[in-house]
Amino acid sequence: MTIGFIGLGHMGGPMAANLVKARHVVRGFDLAQPLMDEARSKGITACASLAEAVAGADTVITMLPAGKHVLSVWQELLALVPSGTLLIDCSTIDIDSARGAHDMAAAKGCPSLDAPVSGGTGGATAGTLTFMIGGERDVFAKSQPIFEAMGKKIIHCGGMAAGQAAKICNNMILGISMIAVGEAFVLGEKLGLSHQALFDVASVSSGQCWSLTTYCPVPGPVPTSPANNDYKPGFAGALMLKDLKLSQAAAQSAGAVTPLGAKAAELYALFNELGNDGKDFSGIINMLRQQSGDTA
Ligand code: NAD
Repeated sequence: MTIGFIGLGHMGGPMAANLVKARHVVRGFDLAQPLMDEARSKGITACASLAEAVAGADTVITMLPAGKHVLSVWQELLALVPSGTLLIDCSTIDIDSARGAHDMAAAKGCPSLDAPVSGGTGGATAGTLTFMIGGERDVFAKSQPIFEAMGKKIIHCGGMAAGQAAKICNNMILGISMIAVGEAFVLGEKLGLSHQALFDVASVSSGQCWSLTTYCPVPGPVPTSPANNDYKPGFAGALMLKDLKLSQAAAQSAGAVTPLGAKAAELYALFNELGNDGKDFSGIINMLRQQSGDTA
């Protein structure tokens, strides 16, 4: 298959490289020239423009920062590709933009999927991403081999924008649960409880969750968590704030009451304002500890 791939950043670069490994022809384009040089070294055909990248492509994938980028790139590329070309957006974007992108594609007679991912840059490189997919089931079924080249778990969530809905609901749980785990460790410290003792109990009790057992925000109990590596991301505070803001915009327009999601968005906004946007989101425990008058 010939695939046009637009946006070769932290996620898109390794995802496109995995498509090459699966023997697809990948024609890549990014506005950043250094990324084009890197793409070339991974077997991606480095194209000088969007038009060049989508020329002759059966499928076009976008992996871009936000909804406005996706809408503008899809508008441009829909003027270039023939009807019937499959369009897949893997970016994390707001629900309204995702619906708008599907509508634009349908008007041109192009099947389309929203397919945001989780698994971070590690998952993108290893080809173990989880894809959450919105769009028609038969379009999803036909595109399975593309997703299998880049991910391990591929879940059809429903009609258009259902993938984005699943992504922001999941990440709202993640943001809230990381704050909850951080608060528990800070309270435990105040009560004289060791990190390991709290971990040993909560990880096998009803407090068990991914933020604790896979991504523990204190060094020690889970050696692979970013807490053991000076909170280097992983998943940066800026991206968590982005996703929480998307969840709150969606909650507002859909009329859902999400008080803990709103509080998590507020706390991550403060975390970012304090200069932690480049730190892993689990580092919010340090802000909670400082607010409690303690240092690490
Ligand atoms: P990134 O900033 O590294 O990559 C985005 C790329 O898009 C950049 O290289 C930029 O130059 C390019 N770009 C922007 N406008 C363009 C245009 N008009 N034409 C061509 N290229 C253009 O971001 P990323 O970390 O790769 O994230 C991409 C998306 O994936 C985001 O929506 C993000 O929320 C989502 N995401 C990221 C992670 C992560 O851990 N980084 C995890 C899950 C989801």
